[in-house]
Amino acid sequence: MLSNTLETQWTKTTCCYCGVGCGVLVETERCANVIRIKSVKGDPDHPANLGRLCIKGATLDLTAQPHIYEQSRAKYPELRDSRHMARRRIDWDTAYAHVAEKFADIISRHGPDSVGIYVSGQLLTEDYYVFNKLAKGLIGTNNIDTNSRLCMSSAVAGYKQTLGADAPPCNYEDIDHASTIFITGSNAAYAHPVLFRRIEAAKEKNPDLKLIVVDPRLTDTARTADLFLQILPGTDVALYHGMLHIMLWEGLTDPAYIDAHTEGFSALKELVKNYTPKAVAEICGIAETDLNQAARLFAQSSGTLSLYCQGLNQSASGTSKNTALINLHLATAQIGRAGAGPFSLTGQPNAMGGREVGGLANLLSAHRDLGNPEHRREVAEFWGVRDVPAKPGLTAVPMFEALRSGQLKAIWIVCTNPAQSLPDQTLVHEALNKAEFVVVQDAYANTATTAYADVLLPATTWGEKSGTVTNSERRISRVRPALAPWAECKNDWEIALGVARLLEAKLPAASSLAWRSLFNFADVQSVWEEHRESTRGRDLDITGLSYAILERDGPQYWPYPTGATQGKPRLYEDGIYPTATGRARFVSNPYRAPADPTDARYPFAMTTGRLRDQWHGMSRTGTVARLYSHAPQACIDLSPLDGRRLNIADQDLVYVTSRRGMQVMPVNFTDSVRPSQAFVAMHWGSEFLSGKPGKFVSQGINSLTSPAIDPDSQQPELKFAAVKITRADLPWHVIAFAWIDASAAVALQVELRALFPHTTFATATLFGRDDARHQTGVFLRLAHTEAFEPAFIQRIAQYFGLDTANGQQSIMTYQDKRRSVMRQVKAEHGRSNTQDTSDQQVWYLCAALLTGSAPDVSAAGWLREYLESFTDVRTFGRRLLTPGANPPQPVETRGKVVCNCFNVQESSISQFLVKSTAVGREALLQALQASLSCGTNCGSCLPEIKTMISQHVD
Ligand code: SF4
Repeated sequence: MLSNTLETQWTKTTCCYCGVGCGVLVETERCANVIRIKSVKGDPDHPANLGRLCIKGATLDLTAQPHIYEQSRAKYPELRDSRHMARRRIDWDTAYAHVAEKFADIISRHGPDSVGIYVSGQLLTEDYYVFNKLAKGLIGTNNIDTNSRLCMSSAVAGYKQTLGADAPPCNYEDIDHASTIFITGSNAAYAHPVLFRRIEAAKEKNPDLKLIVVDPRLTDTARTADLFLQILPGTDVALYHGMLHIMLWEGLTDPAYIDAHTEGFSALKELVKNYTPKAVAEICGIAETDLNQAARLFAQSSGTLSLYCQGLNQSASGTSKNTALINLHLATAQIGRAGAGPFSLTGQPNAMGGREVGGLANLLSAHRDLGNPEHRREVAEFWGVRDVPAKPGLTAVPMFEALRSGQLKAIWIVCTNPAQSLPDQTLVHEALNKAEFVVVQDAYANTATTAYADVLLPATTWGEKSGTVTNSERRISRVRPALAPWAECKNDWEIALGVARLLEAKLPAASSLAWRSLFNFADVQSVWEEHRESTRGRDLDITGLSYAILERDGPQYWPYPTGATQGKPRLYEDGIYPTATGRARFVSNPYRAPADPTDARYPFAMTTGRLRDQWHGMSRTGTVARLYSHAPQACIDLSPLDGRRLNIADQDLVYVTSRRGMQVMPVNFTDSVRPSQAFVAMHWGSEFLSGKPGKFVSQGINSLTSPAIDPDSQQPELKFAAVKITRADLPWHVIAFAWIDASAAVALQVELRALFPHTTFATATLFGRDDARHQTGVFLRLAHTEAFEPAFIQRIAQYFGLDTANGQQSIMTYQDKRRSVMRQVKAEHGRSNTQDTSDQQVWYLCAALLTGSAPDVSAAGWLREYLESFTDVRTFGRRLLTPGANPPQPVETRGKVVCNCFNVQESSISQFLVKSTAVGREALLQALQASLSCGTNCGSCLPEIKTMISQHVD
């Protein structure tokens, strides 16, 4: 008999977003045998976050609601019989058999290197392990790479070239011990918010702690710095060499440490001779005095901790950037002790785990190297296979180039969205079109990549998965399921196993020497235990660790060898490095300019980065309306000086053109970028931002980025593209928005994508609060060179519930057919506020559609303010339709939401500050928090609030 009693339960797991690796407590509630996630909170016992979550982690529960999953998740395996047919539902046995059959056939015709597997830093270690064994052990190809290639491979190469192993030497507690923190190439306030809270706390506790930030942009992280070096994009190597030059000149290096523990310093000394302060200040576009100060602070501090991320890694000279920074630590002995060392911040939650199992085209299990015959022999012996192929596999960008050229015939894409995230999207889309066979294994059904799937394999995701991840500080955490798999989804490692077991029978030449299956895994723990055994005697030896210890003692550092009672929080304290000589190596690479040069045709240096509240390609965060409220739409950040020069006004649409593609988007003027530079957020793929300007098909931001790769790490230069920016005088516009039932809003956003190829510029996003009203805002904006056909407008009206054909009384329309101008609004009767208990009913605006020229659609601004504020519009009547941009009654522009936890808008904070009688920054912050609560929960908004206070005080 079914019980209707509510039962709640808490499950400890780990956040699925960034590499901070926060512990999450998930509250589930069971009613009538249906379990749903009720809430999440930070795990106070997890050492990475001690109870904190950022806004992304704190909204994980919203992303996992059944009504969201109904609209967004892949539910059952699907197969299409030909490229021009829609996929049909199949069962798992058919899916496994079909994938195994196709792979075996292609391998038999073209050899093992004709297939590739492209996986993800968001897989768990166990998933990674099985895929790696499948590729290298069974199929016999090293063509397995991961989106971690786009993220951390330069950091890996940097560590290996200098320190001898891919092992971050530091841990999060070093933040509390440092006296100088050097943040370079990282906007940690957005990308690693919980870690940034820890930096803020350390600074509060120790006002003498110096924060140096190096970034081309004045980010929220940079605004907190004691010293900010706003270098020109891509000039990091010159900066670090310049700092070393000054250290040498002023006797600030540590000759005793250099003599005892390093090699290669003479060559580096010779190289940096030419990096004089004057020359470097000029290359980097900074003041010489700031350069001097940075060098002195770095070298003279009792503990300098460098925190760095994609600003260094995503570059065609990313490895050199990493090694040049590590050179500074070695030269000044700022390593191997509390509060000192180079500490790469991992982008994805388990990029580290993927490296540990060797799940990349140039690595083998347990940090072994593919280029090392002894390592290949060890792995082959461990797996019980004849050999592991010696030829390096295709890394991410070359893998898609090979797919386009026909060298690679089939690809199996797992838990990632390369049709959004790789650079040069034209190449990627052409490659996926050209492929003979594409398998996409994903939790989400509607990514840009799933559109290319010949077979779609539905996978479990956060909240359903079990296994382990390793965070930035080498700490292994358990990931636990709170829910059963959605629909027919299966765990990624199980899906790999399902295909692998069939493939084993079809590829006899590759089968194991012992004629037993390579894939005798009973459960996820047995996968992990095989991985654990592979680490025996390696730098990351975890043979002393077990699932039971992780359950009992919580997350643990590696190494954790047999007999240990704890892992090792800090490496190289003895000055001995895992190199042939035991010495760390200085690397002497000169500064090289970015691969995509700016010139008269492409004069802007465009950088990319993250938004505070979105994650990667937004397949998960993009389903939650409130996560758009801090940055509601894609835009390109420009200096207002450039705006004036180019005769562009704030929010004007512009053509952004690189050597590879074009994307139209609005301009946002900001003081955070320098003239002749531009910035775009990396999240906006063709699912949210697109269009077809002229001959180009825009696929979002990565239509513009460069596929140039670093020669050592093979990491692409996603951070730098030379672009030209010109005003897009598009004469025809459409803006539509509406409250849509939450059970249909995400699906509508997906449906709207069908309109994108018919216009020059297109964007569709969500807005609102996902609250008890159960309505989500959907927003569409199009602009084009030609007038839209009436049938096209009619189709949009239908999408937004504004179809007058069915005679709805609540719709009002103004139309000037001659000018193709139309405005339609629809009102509904209901409560103005879900918190209001008075039962007072109002007529609130629930949908609007505007077409015509830019001035004709400019009323969209105040109409949306009315709609979002549930203003009673009953008395406004047809004044809502009056041509022009003036509202019937003054409307307050609320601006973006700064504090997402408490829905506090920029305007509310500004108004409070104007009225407040509190004196001083700290008193103002306290008064603000007491009054509006902003910044009192997750804290992600604190840097921005502090900036607003500073601007108010100054
Ligand atoms: Fe998740 Fe935020 Fe923690 Fe990163 S900082 S792991 S996104 S909660």
